[in-house]
Formats: sequence, C-alpha cells, structure tokens
Amino acid sequence: DRRVTVIGGGLAGSEAAAVLAAAGVEVELLEMKPGRRSPAHHLPGLAELVCSNSLRSDNPHNAVGLLHEELRRLGSLVLRCADETRVPAGDALAVDRERFSARVTERLRATPGVAVVEREAAALPEGPGLALVATGPLTADALAGDVERACGGGLAFYDAIAPIVSADSIDMAIAYRKSRYDKGEGADYLNLPLDEPQYRAFVAALLEGEKVAAHGFEEPRYFEGCLPIEVMAERGPEVLAYGPMKPVGLEDPRTGRRPYAVVQLRREDVAGTAWNLVGFQTRLTWPAQQRIFREHLPGLARAEFLRLGQIHRNTFLDAPRLLAPDLSLRARPHLFFAGQMTGVEGYVESAACGHLAARAILDRLDGRDFRPPPPETAVGALHRHLTGEAHPPGTPYQPSNVIFALFPPLQGRFRGKQARKEGYAARAREALGAWL
Ligand code: FAD
Repeated sequence: DRRVTVIGGGLAGSEAAAVLAAAGVEVELLEMKPGRRSPAHHLPGLAELVCSNSLRSDNPHNAVGLLHEELRRLGSLVLRCADETRVPAGDALAVDRERFSARVTERLRATPGVAVVEREAAALPEGPGLALVATGPLTADALAGDVERACGGGLAFYDAIAPIVSADSIDMAIAYRKSRYDKGEGADYLNLPLDEPQYRAFVAALLEGEKVAAHGFEEPRYFEGCLPIEVMAERGPEVLAYGPMKPVGLEDPRTGRRPYAVVQLRREDVAGTAWNLVGFQTRLTWPAQQRIFREHLPGLARAEFLRLGQIHRNTFLDAPRLLAPDLSLRARPHLFFAGQMTGVEGYVESAACGHLAARAILDRLDGRDFRPPPPETAVGALHRHLTGEAHPPGTPYQPSNVIFALFPPLQGRFRGKQARKEGYAARAREALGAWL
C-alpha cells in the first residue's frame, strides 16, 4: 500500500510530501491552517517562515550553505521555491515569505498524488499505514499531548521572535546602508549606529523593561543562537555589543568610523517596505518594546512596528533515544518524525530532515534497509546529530543547527579556518555524489 499520511505542511512536511509523491506514493498532507493557526503562523499557505525571512548563508563554505547546495542537488522543493522567490541579502538566501509560501503551496497542490487536506490531527494515526509527523515546534496541543504519551515524556520550552518596522518610519538621515564587510549588495541591510552612552542607556532600559512572565510550570529555555536581547543584556553589559549589535565590518560610510554598537535591519520583502531588527528576539511586553526601541534606538524615534517580538513554545523529542536511525519511533515503528520536533533547528535543517524522513519511508515501503546519507555530507551530519553519533556519549540532547562540529573530523592538514571549511565542502561533495 503506497500511501502515506503527512501531518503538518511546514518546511519538513512540504519537502517530505514532494519527495514521496515524486516516487509515486499517494500522500495525504494534513495541515490545520488556515482554519487553525499557531500563535506564530499568519499566512494561509504551506511552508510558512514564522520569524526571519532568511535561510541563512548561501555560501557552501558555511555548513548551512553547504546544506543548501546538497538540497539543490537532491532536487529539494523547498530550495527550488526559495531560489525562485529570493530577495537580495548579501551572501544569505533570504526570501519574500509570502511568495515563498504561495509557491510551495501551488507546487504541492499541482503535484499528482498529493492531496492537501485542511484538518487538525488531534491524535497520532494508528498503523499499519505509515505516517510522518512534522507538526513543528508549535504542534497543536491535542496532538502534542498524544506525542508525549507515545514517547513517555517530551520537552517544551519557549523561544522568541524579532520585531519588524515599516521602511517609511525609519529615519534615513540616521540609518545607513551597508552589509557586513560589504558582502553582497551594500543596499541589503540598514544599520542604526549607537555611540557608547546611547548603547549603555539602551542596555539599562532593557534590564528595567517589563517582561512577559514565563508560564509557571516551565522555566524558559532558549536556543543559544536565539536568546532574547534582555537575556543577553542580563549576562553582561558588553554581551549585546559582541552579539547581535556587533559593529565590526559596519563602519559608517559617512564618517568612516566604526560605531560602538549597531542595530542591523534586514529587508523583509523585495520592495524593502519592511525591515527586521536582526537578532532582536525579546520577551519584553509590547508596550515596553515600543517605548524602549523608539526612545533608545537612533532612527526609530517614529518607528511603526509591523510586528513586535514575541515568545513561543518549542517542542522537541529526545531523538537519539526515541527514534530509530530511519527516524521512526522505536515504540511505534509505523510513525516517522521530521523537522524541528526531532531536534534539528532551523528552516533549512527542518526541510532537510523532511527530505531524509521521506527517503527513509521510501526504503521501508520498498522493503529495503534504510540507506543513511554519508556522514561526511551536511545532510549526513544532521543525521549524525539525530542519532546522537555526533555527540559525546551521555551528552543531553539539545536542538542544533547544521554546523561543521557535527561532521566527522577532517583528516589531514589544513592551513587556517578557510582551508578547513573548503576541506569539509570538498569532502562532502564527493560523498554526496557517490550516494546519489
Ligand atoms: P513548521 O514549519 O512550524 O510546520 C509545522 C506545520 O504543522 C505548521 O504549518 C502547523 O500549522 C502544522 N500543524 C501543527 N500542529 C498540527 C496538527 N495537530 N494538525 C495539522 N497540522 C498541524 N528557524 C530559522 O531558521 N530561522 C528563524 O528565524 C526561526 N525563527 C523561529 C521563531 C519561532 C517563534 C519558532 C517557534 C521557531 C523558529 N525557527 C526558526 C525554528 C524552525 O526552523 C521553524 O519553526 C521551522 O518552521 C520548523 O519547521 P517544521 O516543518 O518542523 O515546522
């Protein structure tokens, strides 16, 4: 019976549905939107990018850029649609999120064998038919409860999203256009310069600002890469200046000088009508955000906020313990998992995980042993993360982006960081070729 139910039409579920359908499998793709939406989902379509519109670096000497390249070679739907709806963003692959989601939706709806059904799955499907669960970090409550029961426990925590301001409300006499180290087109980013007293006053305001309380029974735990600004400010007065507000490579072209700190704004749409405050995730209350950003960030005195920072739940499984290497649940092998729920972190990683899970399902349907990707590749490195192979035994499982640290160590001598990165990429290319 070559039929599979995919639950969740996000990055992972959409990619998986495309891979399965291309192999002649009949796919029922259950997506609860637009009838029901998580607090972070706003668009009607599939594959919605809920926070940043960037799929991060497109440079293959960067682990995520290498993952882009591999997904393109694997014929990924998500990467193809991202390339088609790209907006300029230096060496990052950023997209117009509405066009991107619409493109993925159109393509899947037009794919023979795929039925997109608007329905919330309230429980895990009973076997024996195979199903893929890809309901993401904001899995609806009823299903999350059922997953938790099936797994004998799960983890929930919170993470935060960054505000967006409208272009015409930014003071362009203060902001300047520049990409860090002038990578890509200079017009891709806007920068707001702060001198030292302005920076200190801003940090002090963050510390005093009113925060949204975490839900009592769960201590908020954030990904290190997505810490709220006020949490960074609490860690020390210079943490922001070395983090999202770091000024290196962002000298103000009008003075030639490097500001003490910088707020970078990244384009949200092709037309440049909306700009995202890069790295400014926060759990400050909405009134506190508006007051503090307008009062303390030069150029934003009259800012119109199209979206304010928010906090959200994030749920993931202890994949190395609960999932078999083919991403099926050990306790109920007809159920496969993919995406952020498995503890990969990021849009591209979630799509790649969906791609992998779909291939594993095809192996199962065809009665073959699962053929894991070569460990030297970026998809293989993600798989090493999911199975725990990339981590020292006994390390608690934490979500991870794709990073070179997940790859098997490079053999041989490399002179400098750049040469090592090139070494990883060259080795991965060869290994992927053999697998394909
Ligand atoms: P999703 O893309 O969320 O897809 C899951 C889909 O399942 C959704 O469409 C949802 O509506 C649907 N669904 C949920 N429950 C049910 C149900 N019971 N029945 C039917 N459908 C259901 N990653 C980045 O790379 N950059 C970022 O800037 C970024 N910001 C984030 C901000 C927030 C607030 C959160 C929560 C996550 C963020 N992530 C970010 C992490 C992650 O990469 C994304 O969440 C990514 O979309 C995960 O892909 P996914 O396919 O696993 O889940």
